[in-house]
Amino acid sequence: MREGLTVEEAQATILGATRPLGAETLSTAIAAGRVLAESIDSSRRQPPNDCSAMDGYAVLRVDLENASAQSPVCLPVVFEIAAGRHGERPLVSGEAARIFTGARLPDGADAVVRQEDTRPSKAGVEILVAPRPREHIRDAGEDFDIGDRLIEAGTVLGAAHLGVLASVGRSVVAVTQRPTVAILSGGDELVEPDRAADSGQIVSSNSYTLAAQCREIGADPIYLGIAEDRPEAIEARLRAGLRADVIVSSAGVSVGDHDHVRAVLEELGCKLEFWGVQMKPGFPMVFGVIESTGTLVFGLPGNPVSASVTFEQFVRPALRKMLGHRALFRPVVRARLTKAMTKKAGRMHFVRVALERRAGLLYATPTANQSSGVLTSLIRGDGLAVFAAEQEELAADSEIDVQILETTFFDQTERGF
Ligand code: AMP
Ligand code: MG
Repeated sequence: MREGLTVEEAQATILGATRPLGAETLSTAIAAGRVLAESIDSSRRQPPNDCSAMDGYAVLRVDLENASAQSPVCLPVVFEIAAGRHGERPLVSGEAARIFTGARLPDGADAVVRQEDTRPSKAGVEILVAPRPREHIRDAGEDFDIGDRLIEAGTVLGAAHLGVLASVGRSVVAVTQRPTVAILSGGDELVEPDRAADSGQIVSSNSYTLAAQCREIGADPIYLGIAEDRPEAIEARLRAGLRADVIVSSAGVSVGDHDHVRAVLEELGCKLEFWGVQMKPGFPMVFGVIESTGTLVFGLPGNPVSASVTFEQFVRPALRKMLGHRALFRPVVRARLTKAMTKKAGRMHFVRVALERRAGLLYATPTANQSSGVLTSLIRGDGLAVFAAEQEELAADSEIDVQILETTFFDQTERGF
């Protein structure tokens, strides 16, 4: 087993061991946010026929070359076509047909005149304009034609995709399956939030944070509970997680006397790929694969910020890959530091920062307390500034990459335009 990998090495190892899950068929109506597992080619033409874009009159342009408000041309209205109906027969020179938006254009017609550009008359309708070629006609197939590639496999389905799927008659669609993630907490000091914590005990929060991080990207968390710091207790709970695609446990992976997770994983037939990543927060973490089931196992550090930040850097990209996403990583923006920062060379630091936009530029201010136990600092931060491993100093006003954790940062209280 390798030890002390860089963040890049750890990510590469994890993604190298991660495969996209298979497909499942889903009602298109509830497929928003899912990743398309098939490419969609059109079996239809949209619109299926030339049709009217306006309420008005279908005409032949040849009859109206000199029509104007001063010298209207009067045409008899020989039939009417409502939406969803056919014209009775082809239109011929010297005739108009009443037509409504979305109705099929009669054969012979080559323009539509808007109702507003006409006047009723006893003999039929007075046309007050000379229409341009194919004016107010929607051409058959102007949206898509038979055989057109409409959506590529791997696309994340949004509202417009669902509309297009519906318009080609796809009421069900193949999407990538959602990974199941078994979540285990560990430690004799932990109690569930609905229990009174005695002195020396602390309330377990990691399962709440990590389950929400799973749900945010469409993975399904399964809670395995809190394991005491005994190998048999950890093993019993981990066994229940072997049917999941991924196991995420937190705590018990350090070098303390009560840290049994690594040994238990090996007992369960887990091939450990690495232990320890050169980062802060989050050095003590382990990654492996249960050989009999293919389940990926992430043993994250117990400190609440470390657990959440390591999930972001390692578990989230793996789950996104399982889900079939091409874009595995959070957005990164450039921001200016409002304060100087220093650290020792060697580990990459993920610094919780609050972002602020001033005159079109982003400014990043580190939250006051960067301790890995201070979970509230994650609430105060909008993202993680990346302080490179070998860098020791960053001056105030220097530019830095910030990984955006909450895209709600981009939501605005003002309309903005
Ligand atoms: P460990 O990795 O077991 O040494 O735990 C590191 C720190 O994280 C300890 O202070 C633990 O009490 C804390 N911790 C571990 N698990 C959790 C959890 N599920 N929720 C909140 N804090 C935890
Ligand atoms: Mg512990």
